[in-house]
Amino acid sequence: MLDVQKIRDDFPILTREVNGKPLVYFDNAATSQTPQVVIDAIVDYYSSYNANIHRGVHTLSQEATDAYEIARKKIQEHFGAKYAHEIILTSGTTHSINIIATGFTSLLSKGDEIIVSALEHHSNIVPWQMLCERTGAILKVIPMNEDGELVMNVYDQLLSNSTKLVFTNHISNALGTINPIEEIIEKAHRVGAAVLIDGAQACPHVKPDVKALDVDFYVASAHKLCGPTGVGMLYGKEDWLNKLPPYQGGGEMIEQVTFEKTTYAGLPHKFEAGTPNICGGIAFGVALDYMNSIGFDNIAAYENELLEYGTQKLLEIEGLKIYGTSKNKTSVISFNLDNIHPYDVGTIVDKLGIAVRTGHHCAQPIMDFYKIPGTVRASFSFYNTKEEIDALVEAVKKAKMMLS
Ligand SMILES: *Cc1c(COP(=O)(O)O)cnc(C)c1O
Repeated sequence: MLDVQKIRDDFPILTREVNGKPLVYFDNAATSQTPQVVIDAIVDYYSSYNANIHRGVHTLSQEATDAYEIARKKIQEHFGAKYAHEIILTSGTTHSINIIATGFTSLLSKGDEIIVSALEHHSNIVPWQMLCERTGAILKVIPMNEDGELVMNVYDQLLSNSTKLVFTNHISNALGTINPIEEIIEKAHRVGAAVLIDGAQACPHVKPDVKALDVDFYVASAHKLCGPTGVGMLYGKEDWLNKLPPYQGGGEMIEQVTFEKTTYAGLPHKFEAGTPNICGGIAFGVALDYMNSIGFDNIAAYENELLEYGTQKLLEIEGLKIYGTSKNKTSVISFNLDNIHPYDVGTIVDKLGIAVRTGHHCAQPIMDFYKIPGTVRASFSFYNTKEEIDALVEAVKKAKMMLS
């Protein structure tokens, strides 16, 4: 089991106050907080071996290159990839998705079909719409039900020999639903389609195994799993990454350049043009070590406890409705109070030191489905406590009193 008090000591930010109250941080689905070991790794990089990688023969450059490549190896092991060169370091999930969406431009033709889920983040909708505009491919959507789950028998009907790509998130950031990605991947492969899974919201809670999933592409951001912002990963099966063209041209991604012709570097450098977020990549590796030292089974068990407790306590408030009621969900509670705008609730609870998210959570189609402008979203992490949930419940009651 987790020693939550000890874990909280790892996060310096958790001791601060907001508006004269102890900070209660429940916006973990937007970004996680950063433990001291990750902060130390960042300070250490800039204090002792800051240098550009893969270029210099000098000592600092070699130290930085080694540390960066060790981080890639850690990411490979964490995600269960066969080779380190199947891990592309990017600026985050959005960047990773755009590499694939752009790369598929030359592989699709008019009438080909792309399937996305109704539960997507905007970053997993817009790049596909742009791809469809470029190629004449058609976007199809797996619908959702009232509980916030994908309607899988419609997915079966959408799949055909015209399906070239299927995209869905592993876990919905707006509702917390865990999608049946094993089934989605297997069925897509039966018709010869490739699958990209957006793991940005899943990786703080579960440890995916890309080889066991047999997924073609899997993407995530470091800042949602205790790492820094501005760095993330793209896993792609070697064959796919070899088939796709580079995304950006520039330094690092070439083998030979003349004005007549340039040949590209091999994997992973082909997709890593320019100086990357070196420090961020190294800190990403340290963040994975930190999460693994706590253990994803422990994290999931404790967060489920918080989810059950929070769900039960919040539902005791009259007029409170929770959106996203799948039995298969992670520690995200999206809710509204009768006739009260989520923004107003968010403002009042912030006055009491509690950080929640309000709005459409970059998932407007989900809000349209429920015919609401947005929700209040409280998302719990392994460093949160039941006492903090009690504080949220009291704050929401107060907001209700003041606003109704
Ligand atoms: C946060 C998130 C993204 C976007 O991640 P960035 O780090 O902003 O690129 C995409 N999809 C889901 C499900 C997310 O939760």
